[in-house]
Amino acid sequence: MKYLSLNDTHKNKKTVSFREAMVKGLAPDRGLYFPQEIPTLDKEFLENLPEYTEHEIAYRVISPFIGGEIPEADLRKIVAETLSFEIPLVHLDRDYSTLELFHGPTMAFKDVGARFMARCLGYFNRQAFTKTIRVLVATSGDTGGAVANGFLGVPGVEVIILYPEGKVSDIQERQLTTLGQNITALKVKGSFDDCQAMVKQAFLDEEMEHLNLTSANSINVARWLPQMFYYFLAVRQLQKEGNTRKVVFSVPSGNFGNICAGVMASKMGLEMSYFIAATNVNDTIPRYLDSENYAPNPTLPTISNAMDVSDPSNFIRIEKLFHGELPQLRRVFSSHSYTDEETREAMKDLYATYRYIADPHGAVGYLGARKALEDFPGHRAVFLETAHPVKFLKEVEATLNVTLDLPLQIQEVMEGEKHFISIESYKGLKEFLLGS
Ligand SMILES: *Cc1c(COP(=O)(O)O)cnc(C)c1O
Repeated sequence: MKYLSLNDTHKNKKTVSFREAMVKGLAPDRGLYFPQEIPTLDKEFLENLPEYTEHEIAYRVISPFIGGEIPEADLRKIVAETLSFEIPLVHLDRDYSTLELFHGPTMAFKDVGARFMARCLGYFNRQAFTKTIRVLVATSGDTGGAVANGFLGVPGVEVIILYPEGKVSDIQERQLTTLGQNITALKVKGSFDDCQAMVKQAFLDEEMEHLNLTSANSINVARWLPQMFYYFLAVRQLQKEGNTRKVVFSVPSGNFGNICAGVMASKMGLEMSYFIAATNVNDTIPRYLDSENYAPNPTLPTISNAMDVSDPSNFIRIEKLFHGELPQLRRVFSSHSYTDEETREAMKDLYATYRYIADPHGAVGYLGARKALEDFPGHRAVFLETAHPVKFLKEVEATLNVTLDLPLQIQEVMEGEKHFISIESYKGLKEFLLGS
C-alpha cells in the first residue's frame, strides 16, 4: 500500500510507503497521509467472522495497509502483542451494548494504536537502525499515557509528550509523567489545540529536520488504522450471537480518529449501518454538518477532557472516505453534541437502569446511542466505552455517589513521582528539542 498526502492537489500525486508515512507522521505539505486505495475484504470472510480468531481477523484487516513491508510472521506477532487484552462487548439490554475498550495497560482505547505503532517502529529500527527517532505527541489526556506505556524502552526512540496544564486528570498526568527512561513530559500553558498546533509547527520547522520528528497522534497512520480492529471484533461478537438487526455505532469523539477508523472498516466491507459521532460542547463537527460552515471556536474544558478538541484533525479523512460529498456522508453519519450536565445525567441513568458505571466519555457515547435509537427504532446500538471510569475517579465518584476500587495498572502509577518540564509557547518547545 502506498500513501498520499490529502493536501496534494497534483494530478500525479507523490506517494510514500507505510514506513515513510509512519516515520514522517505528517506529509511535508502539512497534509495527512491517506491510503492510496481502500482495500476490500472477502465477503465470505466478512460474513463468517466467528470462524476466525481475533488475531487472525486483525491480521487480515491490517495487512493490506502494510503491503509486505513487514513480513507476515513479524506482523502477526505485532498484532498479537497489540491485542493482548480483552475487548468485550457488554450487553446492557436487548437494544444497547457497550464495547469496552479500556482493558489495556493504561485503561483507555488508545493503547491499541500506541502499542501497534511502537512495535512497527521497533521492527523497522531493528532492520536498519540509523538515527534516533523522536516521537512528538500532543495529548488531551489519554494519548500521552498510552504512548508513554507503548513506547517505553523501545530502542532508538525518544518520546516527548505535550499536555495542557490543569486540563488532564491526576491519573492521566501520572501515566505520562512517572515513567522516565525515554519518555519526557512537557507541561504546556494552554489548551490541547495549542499543544497540537505546536507539534504541527515543529514538524514543519526546517531547523528541526535533523531531529527525525514523528507524531504518535491519530494523525499518524500507524496509530489510526489499527483502531479498525474494535469494529471488526464487535461485529464478530454480534455474528456469534446470531444478531440479525442493523447495528448503529456511537463513538465518543474528539479528534475523530477512532470513528474515522470505524468508517474505514465499513468501507472495507464490514456490515455497519450507521455512525454517530458524539461530542461534548466542543461541537465544531455537529455545527459543520448543519451549516456546512467549518468554524472552530476556542476549546472549552469539559468533564470528558480527552474530547476537548475544537479542530479535529481526522475529520478530513472521513470526508475523503465519502469523496468530499456531504450528502453521501450524511446518509450514514451524523454528529451530536452534549453538555456536561447531560453527560452526568447519562452516567446516572446508566447506573440506575443497568448498574453500569460509565466514565464521562462513555456516557457521551451512550447519549449518542439514545439519539440513534430515536432516529432508527428497531436497530441495535453499540456505544464505545473508551476509558475505564477510574481514570476519571473524582467525577465518577461524585456523580454516582460510589467508591471505585483502583485496578492494579492504576495503583502502580499512583506510586510514581511526577516529572515534567513546563513550557509556555512554541519557543519553549524548540529550545527543549534543540537542546536535547
Ligand atoms: C482520545 C479519546 C477519545 C476521542 O477519540 P478520538 O479518536 O480523538 O475521537 C474519547 N474518549 C477517550 C477516553 C479518549 O481518550
